Amino acid sequence: MVEREEYLRSISPVDEVLALAAVEELAENNPKAVVTQAVRTVLAELRRSILEAKDEERLKALSLEPADLVPLITDLVSEVMSPSLRRVINATGVVVHTNLGRSILSPLAVDAVLSVASNYSTLEFDLKEGKRSNRQVHIEDLLVTITGAESAMAVNNNAAAVFLALSALANGKEVIISRGELVEIGGSFRIPDVMVAGGAILCEVGTTNKTHLKDFDGAIGPETALLLKVHTSNFAMRGFTAEVPLKELVELGAKKNIPVMHDLGSGVLIDLAQYGLSYEPGVKESVLAGADIITFSGDKLLGGPQAGLIVGKKDFIERLKGHPLARALRLDKMTLAALEETLRLYLDPAQAIKEIPTLNMMLTPQAELKKRADGLAKRLREVGAGRLNAQVMADHSKVGGGALPLEELPTFVVSAAAESLSAAAFEAALRRAETPVIVRVKDERVIFDVRTIQRSEIAEIAEAVQSILNL
Ligand SMILES: *Cc1c(COP(=O)(O)O)cnc(C)c1O
Repeated sequence: MVEREEYLRSISPVDEVLALAAVEELAENNPKAVVTQAVRTVLAELRRSILEAKDEERLKALSLEPADLVPLITDLVSEVMSPSLRRVINATGVVVHTNLGRSILSPLAVDAVLSVASNYSTLEFDLKEGKRSNRQVHIEDLLVTITGAESAMAVNNNAAAVFLALSALANGKEVIISRGELVEIGGSFRIPDVMVAGGAILCEVGTTNKTHLKDFDGAIGPETALLLKVHTSNFAMRGFTAEVPLKELVELGAKKNIPVMHDLGSGVLIDLAQYGLSYEPGVKESVLAGADIITFSGDKLLGGPQAGLIVGKKDFIERLKGHPLARALRLDKMTLAALEETLRLYLDPAQAIKEIPTLNMMLTPQAELKKRADGLAKRLREVGAGRLNAQVMADHSKVGGGALPLEELPTFVVSAAAESLSAAAFEAALRRAETPVIVRVKDERVIFDVRTIQRSEIAEIAEAVQSILNL
């Protein structure tokens, strides 16, 4: 194709595009380097399209008109200049949605973050003594009070907590664990891999479905440093199964003088069964059962910021605090501030349920959910003006975050279908809205689960739907 050469030669030089009035204006309102880079990228893409065009027809469809490049350049600049990490509306009903940031913080926790982020703070300073102090003090006493453990600390996340504990207590030594508990939590966290990374030698006992105390007993040897129990957070086994209760493991450990660690995953600090949810092992129970080290997440069912909480016997916690990795895995002041305020709410469980969004959303009464769904459906019908079918239906929400995997929380949803759009196109458009709305699609309909939709977000969803329908 001779024409291809001609097309390539006709691509405008960068300077020429930069001199367009619209592009000059763009460069006045944005960093010049960003605009120049956007121009280069758009021209390079045009060049590639010319080279890749399979026939003359496709070649002819390409516009070389510099003015036609302006919208592409503008889009690219605005993409670079708008935040990548930004707010979305979670209409999935999954309360602890790992991809959407797991737990959202209580207003009290948010205020605390803001205060330490924009001011100097007591991060490592003792006001009474006027001396250097330790950042763990802000959460240690609270965790001790709430869980009944002897001592406590916090690191970056629960993966870090497990890694630190294994590195400090079992480096180069054997850790015994049931084959039924060698779990994978999300793609990048597998208990056996973390054990190896922490320098521990994995000693698996029992079978996938059944492990007995005698399996642990028989595996203990001179190289055994730790007995590890891992909560199978994100799945449940039924049928011909047996696991060793923590209490029996602790008794065995005491007899053989070997510490016992319990990785709980989700950190439940109040009895959720009391509120009608299924049983999920709590931190207090593990403390009472006598585990030496207990690890759990700050942002799963606890409802705080991303953190790895470690509670247990003083001697062991001291060893973890003194380990060089503790510094590498330590918490930032903003997270500490949010964690401290979240934990303080647990001093009064009724307060915790009221103020901590994760707990609050899991326990929202049916009547309230129905009211919210009715409100959303009404708004959607209003903005839809005949172009949208919206119905309130009973459905189920998931807790998410690898917690309470079998729990089906009865909820109310708005099931919607747009006249002019497929469900997939409707879902994609909502995702690309100014404030993205993340929904589920089921049976060719878009599902808005109101459990995770905040009251103030209903108007925003209606606005997004309106602009989608008006396109
Ligand atoms: C979620 C989980 C982890 C990892 O916790 P993060 O806070 O995501 O690092 C580790 N162990 C178990 C059992 C878990 O459920």
